[in-house]
Amino acid sequence: MAAAPNSAQKSEEEWRAILSPEQFRILRQKGTEPRGTGEYDKFSDDGIYNCAGCGTPLYKSTTKFNSGCGWPAFFEGLPGAINRSPDPDGRRIEITCAACGGHLGHVFKGEGFQTPTDERHCVNSVSVKFVPMETSATL
Ligand SMILES: [Zn+2]
Repeated sequence: MAAAPNSAQKSEEEWRAILSPEQFRILRQKGTEPRGTGEYDKFSDDGIYNCAGCGTPLYKSTTKFNSGCGWPAFFEGLPGAINRSPDPDGRRIEITCAACGGHLGHVFKGEGFQTPTDERHCVNSVSVKFVPMETSATL
């Protein structure tokens, strides 16, 4: 297999081959998982959340908080791990994995949550893969 300049960047066909249909729908086609159904919605183990597409570490469990919104919520991403861009709807800010461009969800500001940033990264569980602390500490 020829090495790509950046192995996190893949064609849509390549993504389709390595992702589940649900992962493809959300990460590559900017879908959203149904509210309250995500694997990590009510989940608070210690560890790291990696991109489900390319494996890049995105969020620490210490920045996850209970927003009650029905999706996993984080008040900040790991430095440089998250890209932001305005949604075509003109209201929301989309967040994506900076390495592979996979869709994570949206970020909302100033909602009054008692967190260090008052930002809420509203992330699809499908877009991330949790790695428990014992494992992630050795990375
Ligand atoms: Zn990624």
